Amino acid sequence: MEILSNRILNMAESETLAMTAKARELKAQGKDVISLSIGEPDFNTPDAVKEAAKKAIDDNFTHYPPVPGYPDLREAICTKFKRDNNLDFKPEQIVVSTGAKQSIYQLVQCLVNPGDEVIIPTPFWVSYKEIVRVAEGKCVYVKTKIENDFKVTPQQLEEAITPRTKLIMFSSPSNPTGMLYTKDELKAIADVVAKHDNIFIMADEIYEHINFVGKHESIAQFENVRDRVITVNGVAKGFAMTGWRIGFIAAPTVIAKACNKLQGQVTSATCSIAQKATVCAMLMDPATSPDIINMRNIFQKRRDMVYKLLCDIPGVKVRLPQGAFYFFPEVSSYYGKSYGEYKINNSTDLAMYLLNEANVATVMGSAFGDDNCIRLSYATSEELLVEALRRIKEALLKLQ
Ligand code: GLU
Repeated sequence: MEILSNRILNMAESETLAMTAKARELKAQGKDVISLSIGEPDFNTPDAVKEAAKKAIDDNFTHYPPVPGYPDLREAICTKFKRDNNLDFKPEQIVVSTGAKQSIYQLVQCLVNPGDEVIIPTPFWVSYKEIVRVAEGKCVYVKTKIENDFKVTPQQLEEAITPRTKLIMFSSPSNPTGMLYTKDELKAIADVVAKHDNIFIMADEIYEHINFVGKHESIAQFENVRDRVITVNGVAKGFAMTGWRIGFIAAPTVIAKACNKLQGQVTSATCSIAQKATVCAMLMDPATSPDIINMRNIFQKRRDMVYKLLCDIPGVKVRLPQGAFYFFPEVSSYYGKSYGEYKINNSTDLAMYLLNEANVATVMGSAFGDDNCIRLSYATSEELLVEALRRIKEALLKLQ
């Protein structure tokens, strides 16, 4: 008899984390690997946030917090939604979890029955698919085009909807493409969803503050879908707080209550110290906070630099991302080519070739549902980015 459940046997490993682990392993063996695999800001958490955490320890916030999060944190999150997104939420609509990943996992568990269809525009963030599969939902992939900045059109969405559709999941700014939906585009999506009963929208806004084109737009702003949107956010990316593991949802109360019930059986609540630190982060206004503005400016400078370097590689098709810190270039013109013992037939072959031959860790596009591309994270220093892109170009040009 199999030791492990079918559930876990059938689940794919997180490719973003797997590629990062491989890069770490090679580095530990003494190889000079540059990692462009994980999406993690290379900045430190703002000092004020760190001070708030130290104070939380001294003030003995070391006991179990309430399952959905401390009341002052949920209030601060409501303040954030009002200030940044002009959205009105009550604390009972907020559930704070151990990272946005757990928030998404819980809400899918709470919404999706076996056989329910979940529409996932492709490319998508790596974990959406496995989270839906664990809930025995059926992923319905809608392939977007690089020419349309990898954004789903209302027509495509309409065609994908069936009586079994329960949920639509997307991120904006997007991981892995770095593209943003405009207000008009979100409105058009909302109008399609509003025509159908019982379809919910999971809007993953974790990259909200890493936006190079202006105001962030939330789909929850539209009246006709407001009670069907679950907005997911957190502090990992915008506040350089990946290790603190804080994510949250703002949801219709019935869904927030369900997530709270599930969380009560799974983690009880998330870390008390990290919660108190997050109160401080939520009360920082990203429009005026030097820490946040500085990070965004540096990301933008790197984006511009990497864009030029990528455009300079023959056979690589690339769009200028508008947010987050990823490029998702199309590299399929190299498929069918070889160098020495390496034969490149897909994005996994290419990512492994770049790792082993060029000592640069990327993530294969197949992990995000698009095998023509690879993902590069530019959340690393300019110096390393220049060297990584030089190595990538050299390795690609060797392929014949
Ligand atoms: N969200 C980040 C990424 O896509 C962190 C790793 C992960 O959780 O997948 O790289």
